[in-house]
Amino acid sequence: MEDIFKKMDEYSHEQLIFYRNKDIDLKAIIALHDSFDKPSLGGTRIYPYETIDKAVEDVLRLSSSMSLKCALAGVDFVGGKMVVIGEKKSKEMFRLIGKFIEGLNGKFFTGTDMGTLPEDFVVASYESKYIVGLPLEYGGSGDTSIFTALGVVLGMKATCKYLWKDSSLNGKLVAIQGLGKVGFKVLRLLLKEKASCIVTDINEARLKDARKLQALGNIQIVEPEEIYKVSCDIFSPCSIGGILNRETVNLLKCKAIVGSANDQLEDKDVLKLLKAKKILYAPDYVVNLGGLIQVAQEIKGFSFSNVRRKIRGIFDTLLKIYKLAEKKDISTCKASKEIAYNLKLKNAKKR
Ligand code: NAD
Repeated sequence: MEDIFKKMDEYSHEQLIFYRNKDIDLKAIIALHDSFDKPSLGGTRIYPYETIDKAVEDVLRLSSSMSLKCALAGVDFVGGKMVVIGEKKSKEMFRLIGKFIEGLNGKFFTGTDMGTLPEDFVVASYESKYIVGLPLEYGGSGDTSIFTALGVVLGMKATCKYLWKDSSLNGKLVAIQGLGKVGFKVLRLLLKEKASCIVTDINEARLKDARKLQALGNIQIVEPEEIYKVSCDIFSPCSIGGILNRETVNLLKCKAIVGSANDQLEDKDVLKLLKAKKILYAPDYVVNLGGLIQVAQEIKGFSFSNVRRKIRGIFDTLLKIYKLAEKKDISTCKASKEIAYNLKLKNAKKR
C-alpha cells in the first residue's frame, strides 16, 4: 500500500493493528475507528483477500460502517473490525485470535461475521474476556437472528407509518428474498401481523419449511428470479448483498425496500434509480441493527427486556431518517449519516 496513513485518514481511523503467526500462517488486521474514547465493537471476518491492500481497505470500510451502526443503535461503542486473511479455520487459530484480542485490554470486542460461527469463538473466549455473541450454553446471548428479524419487522412498521400513516402490517403484501435464519423469522412475524407474503429461496429445504407455514396465513412461493418482478408493498432482501443494481431495480414493483441483507446496494448510483422509481429505501444498516444491539447489551449485562426495548428504537430512528430525507431532499442513506453524526456529537457532550 502506497501510503497506509493516507488510507486511514480516508476512513478517519486512528489505529490499524497487524498480527502475524508464522507457524500457522495466521495474518490478521484490526481497525479501531476511535481508539481512546470508547471501546470498539465489530465482528471478525475470515476471507481469502487477494492482496493485503484489499484486506486493509475492507477492514477500514467495515469498521467505519460499524461506527455508523453503533451511533444509530445508541450503544456506547465505536466501530472496529478484524479481518483474517485466508480460508481455513482451526482451534489453534481461534486460540491465538483470543490472545491477540485479550492483549488489547478491552479496546476491542469481537465475535462472528462472514466466514465465522459463534461456536468458533468458544476457544477464543478461553483466552479473552472480550468475545461476544457466544452460544447460550457458553454464556453468550445466542442467535442474533431473532432480534435482527424483530428489527426488520419494526422497520417495516415504520415504513408503513411513513407511507400510509398507519404502522399496521395487516393486509400488506411483503416479498421476502431468502428464508435463512433472519428471513424465515421475518416471515413468521409477518404472518402474526396478518400480512401476506411472497417468498423465495435458492434452497429447496427452506421452501419446504415455508410450505409448512401455509396453514397460518397467505404465503406464495416464487422462483428466485421472479421475486424482483412481483407487485408488492414492501420488498425485503434477506439473503446476500449487492442485489440492488441497475437490472434488478428496473424490475421492481414495490413501494419500499426493507430488509436485513448487508450491503444491498451494488453502488451509490442505485439510490438515484430508486428515487426515480419513487421506491423508499430503508438503509440496511439501520434495519438490521437488532443483532448489534443484542451483542452490545451482552457486554453491559444482558436482559431480553432491555434488548427488546432498545430495538424498538429502530422504528423511531427510521421514521426520523425518512422525514429528514424528505425535508432536505436527500437520500435516506445521507440522512441516516447526518443523524448518526448528530447522535455521536450529542453523546460526546453528555460525557
Ligand atoms: P442465512 O445464510 O441463514 O440465510 C440466507 C438465505 O438466503 C439462505 O437460506 C440462502 O439459501 C438464501 N439465498 C442466498 N442467495 C439467494 C438468492 N439469490 N435468492 C434467494 N435466496 C437466496 O443468513 P441470515 O443470517 O439469515 O442473514 C441474512 C442476511 O442478513 C445476510 O446478508 C446477513 O449478512 C444479514 N444480517 C444477518 C444478521 C443475523 O443476525 N443473522 C444480522 C445482520 C445482518
